[in-house]
Amino acid sequence: MSKVVIVGGVAGGATAAARLRRLDENAEIILFERGEHISFANCGLPYYIGGTISDRDDLFLQTPDSFRMRYNVDVRVLNEVLSIDRKNKTVCVKNKENGSIYDESYDTLILAPGGEPVRPPIAGIDSKRVFTLRNVADTDAIKKFIDSSLPNQPNQPNLSNRPKRAVVIGGGFIGIEMAENLKEAGLDVSIVELSEQVIAPLDFEMACDVHNHLRQKGVSLYLNNAMRGITEGRDGSLAIELSNGSLEGDMAILEADMAILEADMAILAIGVMPEGMLAKGAGLTVNGRGGIVVDKHMRTSDPNIYAVGDATETMDFVTGEAAMIPLAGPANKQARIAADNICGIPSEYAGAQGSAIIKVFGMTAANTGINEKTAKRLGLDYDKAYLWLPSHAGYYPGAMPMSIKVVYEKGSGRILGAQIVGFDGVDKRCDVLATAISAGMTAYDLARLELCYAPPYSSAKDPVNIAGYAIENVLTGKVKNFHWHDVDALPRDGSVTLLDVRTPQENMRGSISGFVNIPLDELRGHIGGLDKSKPIYVHCQSGLRSYVASRILTQNGFDVYNLGGGYRLYNSVNH
Ligand code: FAD
Repeated sequence: MSKVVIVGGVAGGATAAARLRRLDENAEIILFERGEHISFANCGLPYYIGGTISDRDDLFLQTPDSFRMRYNVDVRVLNEVLSIDRKNKTVCVKNKENGSIYDESYDTLILAPGGEPVRPPIAGIDSKRVFTLRNVADTDAIKKFIDSSLPNQPNQPNLSNRPKRAVVIGGGFIGIEMAENLKEAGLDVSIVELSEQVIAPLDFEMACDVHNHLRQKGVSLYLNNAMRGITEGRDGSLAIELSNGSLEGDMAILEADMAILEADMAILAIGVMPEGMLAKGAGLTVNGRGGIVVDKHMRTSDPNIYAVGDATETMDFVTGEAAMIPLAGPANKQARIAADNICGIPSEYAGAQGSAIIKVFGMTAANTGINEKTAKRLGLDYDKAYLWLPSHAGYYPGAMPMSIKVVYEKGSGRILGAQIVGFDGVDKRCDVLATAISAGMTAYDLARLELCYAPPYSSAKDPVNIAGYAIENVLTGKVKNFHWHDVDALPRDGSVTLLDVRTPQENMRGSISGFVNIPLDELRGHIGGLDKSKPIYVHCQSGLRSYVASRILTQNGFDVYNLGGGYRLYNSVNH
């Protein structure tokens, strides 16, 4: 009978334990968790703070007792694994309840210790008003602080005495979710972000819709700003020192200008670092950030030790590069694969696509595969398509537009990545595109996909089909594109023709300087007046009517370029 010891009892650890038991009824399985809870819903924590999840018990998918009963696993919460003795195949464990220290042997060890929030060594970071969010204890502390009176204002009535201003440091997934939920909890919220955009997996222009939406919802955004230090402000509140900054690779570049942001509390959400100390201490191979290096079987450099989840370095599915992708889906899949291999079922992890999705108040942003920043950094031969399409048939009430960007390989048309920002139907389109990437599909494949359609759900040409058509048109030379970042650099000296084919009403509501308005339906009548020796750059609102214009003009012998994503995308970036 084999004995498997697991370190960490949440996404990776609990999943591995359950799979092991389902495969081997006789194995001895011990699960060590240094916290009080196992198998809790990390991803649900912000929504409990904001009040959408009202019952704290709903955060617990399993309790130690229920897990023990169902899976016959020896669950030891409040037991921290301190070190690994690989030679003797034992772990040294501290029982945090009684302080005792003991050894436990293993045949196979699975490390699933997760990642911990980054805490930069800056002044004031240890203030009691600065929080991070990783587990239930962090959640309780934040919730208690929000619901309590501030300590330095004892004479004020209870409710007016609660914290009113929160600053979220970091505009990643957890930062944005916390901003939304703190707002839901009634606080004024600001986000401070070092780079020029929130949600790094999106490209800048796709994040602009999120910026605009956050501002509309009353969240103040401080982009290109770094937190330099924290001091005590008036009434014991926080004075957060900001400095104009920027991100170059992993390096924060700070400039001299400084501003102070006052707040009653701050949430630090600037990323996670793998909990790699245990592995490093045991001499296992770890990368520069402490991520545990594993092979496709989730085996570490020691064949008797596996590692899964946020603590590991695995592989990017699209690029084949080493990658650390701290998401719940990959952690669960890796745990299953590790358990399979331990039980003699050959199983390989193909790499992570980084498929992710976030609710930003009413908006949804999703991404899968690589973005343009990555394609550029790797020098890939790529191109991109922008679309602005309704979530379902426009004539059926409630259709909402979504902005889609697809990054694809030039030549083959293989889909490399996709980003979608919208309000309805974003998740299913991004999931279809994630599936397409996983299957190595091309734009031609997207065009022929037969997807479910009835007016309340989609259009006969689903946005995914239209993305395929749009790319196919470029690949087969039917249309040439230019993009939002090319617009301002176009010559305004008459050497090219700049054409806006929207209606005059649309043009009056906002236009790009230098573009002449000839509505699409009047274009054929104006062809004789256009100069064939000059290239024509044409735009409409979304890119669809200008595509039709491009085809009319191209077939009449003009050299035409169509603005991908249209005026809408250009305007969103320049808002
Ligand atoms: P964890 O789930 O962090 O579990 C690791 C456990 O190991 C911890 O409980 C820790 O106490 C324990 N441990 C560590 N060291 C030891 C030791 N030496 N001895 C004993 N125990 C130890 N991902 C998504 O895909 N979608 C989301 O919407 C999403 N939202 C999130 C929201 C929040 C607030 C957070 C914090 C994370 C979110 N994630 C989300 C990320 C997701 O939760 C993680 O990717 C996933 O939980 C990783 O699983 P894991 O098992 O590697 O680590």
